[in-house]
Amino acid sequence: MNMNSLMIITDQRRVGGMLNAVKALGGPITAAVVGPRSLADTVSAWGFERVLCLEPAQGVPAEAYSAQVAEVAAAIAPRLLLASDAASSRMLLAAAAAKLNANVIGAVRALSVDGDAIVISRSTADDKVLEDIEAAGSVAGIFSGADVDVITTQPVSVEQIAADSSTNMRLIGVVESEGGNGMLTAARVVGVGAGLAAKDDLKLIEELAAAARAEIGCSLPVCEDLRWLSEHRVIGSSHSQVSPELYIALGISGQPQHMTGVRDAKIVVAINNDPEARVFKFCNYGIIGDLYKIVPALISAFKNMNG
Ligand SMILES: Cc1cc2nc3c(=O)[nH]c(=O)nc-3n(C[C@H](O)[C@H](O)[C@H](O)COP(=O)(O)OP(=O)(O)OC[C@H]3O[C@@H](n4cnc5c(N)ncnc54)[C@H](O)[C@@H]3O)c2cc1C
Repeated sequence: MNMNSLMIITDQRRVGGMLNAVKALGGPITAAVVGPRSLADTVSAWGFERVLCLEPAQGVPAEAYSAQVAEVAAAIAPRLLLASDAASSRMLLAAAAAKLNANVIGAVRALSVDGDAIVISRSTADDKVLEDIEAAGSVAGIFSGADVDVITTQPVSVEQIAADSSTNMRLIGVVESEGGNGMLTAARVVGVGAGLAAKDDLKLIEELAAAARAEIGCSLPVCEDLRWLSEHRVIGSSHSQVSPELYIALGISGQPQHMTGVRDAKIVVAINNDPEARVFKFCNYGIIGDLYKIVPALISAFKNMNG
């Protein structure tokens, strides 16, 4: 059975995790990069059999090339089509899936083969349940599993595809929200919850974030009920997912809607004065105590560490 796979890539997000998952199928893997040539050059050393590169013209969003990407997918006729949950990758995948008449599935975490069928493990119920789904035909999946480090190999040559010049979408403006989206990619994130007693106390959190070289995130009530921080800082199922090296949860109870947003964090440290707080079940290190006593100690520790 032909188990060839095609991975649609618009940025580096989750590519290591996707590769790891697709390798379980055993067939050749092609990368279709819809993005800058530098991205294609980077992934060319990540173990793909082929790397195709379609570079969007200046100011043209990747999604404008969905018809072209669908044609590429049809020519390759992969058994498995996979993309990350990045916004533009998802759209390109949808167009290609329609062209291939493939089974579509989201929240893919792992893949395997059972005879001629592909078995997809996908998460559901806020990550509390993993379902295994068998598909006899071709599959188009959106991968939202954890990223893993990639082992680089000898690069393959990148096959450039001329971008269709008749696209009719273009970028006409950029408005950065307050603070940009730096929080989503920062290596350290300090998350503040409703355990903070007053808006003024955010100064203490800002001091910690500066000492730890971290971005500030928050739980939903801090934005929606208290209106202390803006929406782009909210972490959780209905807002941002973050994957920092370190996530420090301060005065956050640890409800699933929040914790699902930090499931890809490498280390979670929780500080809460309630020993029964749910967050302690989902952290690597837990400190039971008053954040107002612990945060100043953390600030000193980070200052010492960072010189
Ligand atoms: C459909 C839906 C979607 C949702 N989406 C999201 C989402 O995306 N993100 C999100 O965050 N929430 C989301 N929620 C809300 C979520 O269910 C929780 O209500 C919310 O995460 C709780 O926020 P919190 O932990 O800051 O507040 P609380 O649950 O009130 O917890 C505050 C914690 O602070 C501790 N505390 C108090 N004082 C101190 C102190 N001095 N020192 C140390 N600890 C202290 C308390 O012990 C407590 O555990 C969603 C809810 C629904 C229904």
